[in-house]
Amino acid sequence: MNVKRIVVGAVAGVACLAASYGDTRICAVQLDLARQKESPSFVSNYMSRVQSVGYNTIVLYLEDRVKTPSYRYPSDADSYSPAEMSALVQYGMSLGLDVVPVVSPLGHTERFLAHPEMAKYGEQCEGVGRWGKTENPGCFCLENPEARAWMEKYISEVVSVFPGKNLHLGFDETWNLGYCTRCRPIVEKEGLAALYMRHVNWAHGLANRLGKRMWMWDDYFEYFDPKVLETVPRDILMCQWNYDTGIERTGPRSHFGGRLRRNILATYERLGFECLVCPWFDYENVRTFTEYAASHKTAGYFFTQWEMETDFHSIFFPRVLAAAELWSGGGSVVRGDWITKGLRRCFPSLDSETLRMLEGLMFDQSKLKFTTVTKENILNGRQAASKLRYWRTALELLRRHRSRPGAGDVPLDPFSEAAFVEDIVVRTEMAILCEETRTAGRYLLMPDRSEADSSAAKDRLLEIRARWRELVARRERQWAVWRPGINSKKEAAYREHLPKLIEELVSMPSVAADDEWLIEVDLAMIDTHGRPQCKAEVLVNGEWKAIAEGVWKPQRSDGPYSAKCYPVKLVGVPTALRLTATGYGDCGLCHVSLRNRFHRVVPSKIVSTTGRVQDAENLLVDDFRGMRIGLPDCTAAFLSQELSRATSSVECELRDEM
Ligand SMILES: [Zn+2]
Repeated sequence: MNVKRIVVGAVAGVACLAASYGDTRICAVQLDLARQKESPSFVSNYMSRVQSVGYNTIVLYLEDRVKTPSYRYPSDADSYSPAEMSALVQYGMSLGLDVVPVVSPLGHTERFLAHPEMAKYGEQCEGVGRWGKTENPGCFCLENPEARAWMEKYISEVVSVFPGKNLHLGFDETWNLGYCTRCRPIVEKEGLAALYMRHVNWAHGLANRLGKRMWMWDDYFEYFDPKVLETVPRDILMCQWNYDTGIERTGPRSHFGGRLRRNILATYERLGFECLVCPWFDYENVRTFTEYAASHKTAGYFFTQWEMETDFHSIFFPRVLAAAELWSGGGSVVRGDWITKGLRRCFPSLDSETLRMLEGLMFDQSKLKFTTVTKENILNGRQAASKLRYWRTALELLRRHRSRPGAGDVPLDPFSEAAFVEDIVVRTEMAILCEETRTAGRYLLMPDRSEADSSAAKDRLLEIRARWRELVARRERQWAVWRPGINSKKEAAYREHLPKLIEELVSMPSVAADDEWLIEVDLAMIDTHGRPQCKAEVLVNGEWKAIAEGVWKPQRSDGPYSAKCYPVKLVGVPTALRLTATGYGDCGLCHVSLRNRFHRVVPSKIVSTTGRVQDAENLLVDDFRGMRIGLPDCTAAFLSQELSRATSSVECELRDEM
């Protein structure tokens, strides 16, 4: 398939409407080279593969990855020289691809600002940001003339090796904008939107001076008055990204801000913006976003992909190819064959039974992308018992088809079927070990554990650790072949995290000590995209002690109800509890309890409330009628630093029910 087929498909396919962007609709795919550098040969290989299935544009997400004359701080190993990047761009262009760089001058500048020499340009250079003090501030202060001049120079240098007509300037997730002494007064006087628009207009001017068309992520307009969008220059191409599993036909919901639904594509049509719809690697997200886009005029599709520091491309690439099938009209959403076709391109020799099994395995992407096991997520995560059984069966089938079984060579070409199978087999087994660690580890974190259970759990954890180390050795060999000479701190931390955690877990006493408590918080919340910052303190032996703090909300996959647990060290039985909420959106709390081996204390009487607390007495009954604490209007808090800091609290007496 080639570009021409995309155009033909645009007429014949389910998803594609008549061309709106010149003669050819954009069919783009992004490679995130900022979070994970790939070798030049990998990038050119990737380019030719995606071109061969019909993509006509490759977007290189770079942040600071190009080391230019004005940006000498990164090491050579950790960056691309302008000459290296230029060679890649030229290669992409020779394939007929438009090669578009993404450099964000405002948000997602964390990689620049991590260099001590650059920290002075950060919006958080005074130590304050939206989420408090963070180690790695992610926002440039473009009100600082020096910072702005530096960024102009850097972008000009990068752009000089990208002859194409398009330049993506990011502008997503600029959370810390408006927090320095230069910017805060502007927000207070003119509002956050005004400050944001100053920078958008500057970036638009810069792109024009460089002879480029500006692209941008559009998420920030979700939080502003709709009139703000009307002031945006119309020649900016809007990249509408949303990663919800199900995008509804009436429009996607906001990422923050109470999940407001907006028919954004209709708005773009009305205002005369061209836009790309930008799904990511979730199959259902791709399908439903495509269906939503089909009833609107868009400039095309843009498959985004992020943060590959602990992943090779084997579970992602079939999705990239499947989306190409869908967007070219080669596959059908109704039949669902676009997914199988994408997989078949990557696994041409698998029998159809194994391919089906693999399809099921791949659909479950959230667990296959590497996640870290911690004590907290052992206590809070859902157990994946049924998935584990399925994964094991899939693994057995795949192993039979592994071209080079055992500890032999790692297949050289990372895009070969053998390499995909090799990676998926190892990562699936690692995912299984992570889940098994959760299951066994949970026994050792319960205050009422038995000696027999603890002993069995420790034995199992030690077996898991031994097998993990074998797999890590295998993974190291894979890395040496597929990413030679390229480092990933996250990958190194990932390999080490499980043995470290198991070390901690097996050193737990087999019977809980008297001071080992758990606080259990039952939540009921529909909006899982807010950020209520909650804190629990207890009165024990006449003194208040903070015992748990964090953003209390269900995981997206949990649905509205979930329980959160934190381990707590307490000498003595607590007699009172204080809960505090601040931040963005309110928290729905059904019940809170604390328990150790001998006691379980629960709220018995509401003593006082401050700020905004509704139905506090519901906290006294262990059922699903909840109380609410904090400000429900997430957007109001987002736009006002004062409101986001407003505190609400409830204090109650505790009684021992055991
Ligand atoms: Zn500033």
